[in-house]
Amino acid sequence: SRAKVFDKESNINVNFLDVAGLAEAKQELEEIVEFLKKPEKYTNLGGKIPKGALLVGPPGTGKTLLAKAVAGEANVPFFSMSGSDFVEMFVGVGASRVRDLFKKAKEKAPCIVFIDEIDAIGRARGKSPSMGANDERENTLNQLLTEMDGFGTNSGVIILAATNRADILDRALMRAGRFDRQIHVELPDIKERKQIFDVHLRPLKLSEEVKADFLAKQTPGFSGADIANVCNEAALIAARGDKKIVEKEDFLSAVDRIVGGLEKKNKIIS
Ligand code: ATP
Repeated sequence: SRAKVFDKESNINVNFLDVAGLAEAKQELEEIVEFLKKPEKYTNLGGKIPKGALLVGPPGTGKTLLAKAVAGEANVPFFSMSGSDFVEMFVGVGASRVRDLFKKAKEKAPCIVFIDEIDAIGRARGKSPSMGANDERENTLNQLLTEMDGFGTNSGVIILAATNRADILDRALMRAGRFDRQIHVELPDIKERKQIFDVHLRPLKLSEEVKADFLAKQTPGFSGADIANVCNEAALIAARGDKKIVEKEDFLSAVDRIVGGLEKKNKIIS
């Protein structure tokens, strides 16, 4: 199952319409879609297409979704790996996985390589006690840097990475020609929460009294992932009560349940 985690390549059917809100992030990523679709338009004039962009923001705000949407919009393959998969790797394995991933990506270019939780491998080097696992993390990071420098600027491989801890990343990752662009993905405001509810209410059988703007008001501080969760949970609660449609009270119970979960999580952190 390891192999599945790493070499995930898929043709994605997510596009920008599936991503609610996040207008600024989408606008910046639109440019990357253009680079993927019509590289010559940019390179003919001698321009260098950026190699990557870093998506920065709290958990569940749609970073993975956005990266997939870029691949979907440009209609190119999507390769993904997660930094956390590398944490407990045997010596040499992490680096060779990175090498393999980029080899495949170059063969399939134009394409997107997505690295989720890049902070797990990209934490600043030499700041934590030197242990075996840590050295391996450094090897993996060094291999990633080597790969990014190794392929030509106009290879057609664009790397998107996501983190909620840009502050702890090794500066080397942010140097020109690497992740020199940062795209901020913030928690949704009330208007965006309504839009996210609109997306996730669509597949449900709803009572007429269920309104996205009401739900948006009930959910300050919720991420897109929390909202998706509320909608699913509400449907399950309604089904448990043998209902034919999902009602407002089911949503309110779901919100309570998720608020409870969030509070617990915050208590553990603080
Ligand atoms: P993490 O940092 O935890 O990996 P993330 O920022 O990558 O989170 P996603 O995995 O993209 O978050 O979001 C999880 C799910 O939440 C998505 O699959 C989607 O169902 C929902 N979601 C999040 N943001 C949005 C959004 N802006 N519009 C619609 N759905 C969203």
